[in-house]
Amino acid sequence: MHQCFAFMTLLTLCVGSAAAAQEPCQVRLILFLPSDVKEPAGYQERIDQIVAYSESFLTEGFTRWGHDNIVMPFRHTADGHAEVLKVRGKKDASQYSDASVRNEAIASAIEQNGLDVGRQIWWVMVYVGDPPKKFRVFRGAFDPKIGGWSVCNYNTLAGNIRPSAPLGEEFLATINLKAVIHELGHGFQLPHIGPRRTDNGGNSLMGPTHASFRKVASKRDNRVYLSEAAAALMSTHPAFRGVADARKQLPKVQLSEMKYAANSQDKTLSVSGRVKSGRKAVYAVVADESDARPGEYWTKTYVDKVDDDGRFDVTITEPSPTKGTLKIWFAFANGALTGNGKQSGKRGAVAKAYSFTNGRWNFR
Ligand SMILES: [Zn+2]
Repeated sequence: MHQCFAFMTLLTLCVGSAAAAQEPCQVRLILFLPSDVKEPAGYQERIDQIVAYSESFLTEGFTRWGHDNIVMPFRHTADGHAEVLKVRGKKDASQYSDASVRNEAIASAIEQNGLDVGRQIWWVMVYVGDPPKKFRVFRGAFDPKIGGWSVCNYNTLAGNIRPSAPLGEEFLATINLKAVIHELGHGFQLPHIGPRRTDNGGNSLMGPTHASFRKVASKRDNRVYLSEAAAALMSTHPAFRGVADARKQLPKVQLSEMKYAANSQDKTLSVSGRVKSGRKAVYAVVADESDARPGEYWTKTYVDKVDDDGRFDVTITEPSPTKGTLKIWFAFANGALTGNGKQSGKRGAVAKAYSFTNGRWNFR
């Protein structure tokens, strides 16, 4: 009897952890309510609209850049609503002032719902009261332990989120929907990626704020688009492939035949080479950290699909006549991101400086 019990416990544990390993990586949306706020009326409808907007925005972006077989990672209940994990905070609203609110929110959501899910992308919306009250912190990041997370304000301002409206439309800008989805993008390990002129899509999701875009680029253009690099990076993420996030150590990376070229005639730069790794590299990504950028949010980023033999050739079509640094990294088939095999994401990029003198770019 005793033995049997021990065996069953062991079996349960094994089954439990196997289930966690197989659970697909998805977006887990938490509505976090500090102890002293009333539950906002109509939150289900507002969150349904936020999720529907995000889905259609991302689907449009993936389609634009030719990605097939993308799985949307948002969760829905059996009756078709967005799944909301409602969590009541232990403290009152004045005591939550930074992104660490996610720790309590995620831990409570896991505990209250008995979740055993492996790495997920946690989308934490914090409600501290109706406008003008707002939770001021918008943040998001990759986290190898839990998957990824983002924290934003939950805004109750009356109005409709129309899926066809551009993110820079007045109402969507007022409730800061771009920042809500932008931070979720950081949860998927996206860096800041600025708009490219020739994409003609307005501002980019991972680019500057509406205000900064209006000041620098266009007063009238209220469109926002998903950049080519963001789509490529996210297309390899487990969440958009509908699988569990089973990523372990970063793949080792060996680069050869690296060539950096400047073509002053058509005003482009190029990075080509060959990547060897135990894992398949799917995309080569190059960020142009030009000194001419009005800020980091404006970093134009370029991609090329890596050939079966590991060769890639990325063209930087909009360099500025100034010095800067190119950052090169890869998206692997399992969603791993690195350029040097040592650090993850853009932090693990290989760097190459360039200068600009007498009308020419030069690589040192
Ligand atoms: Zn950001």
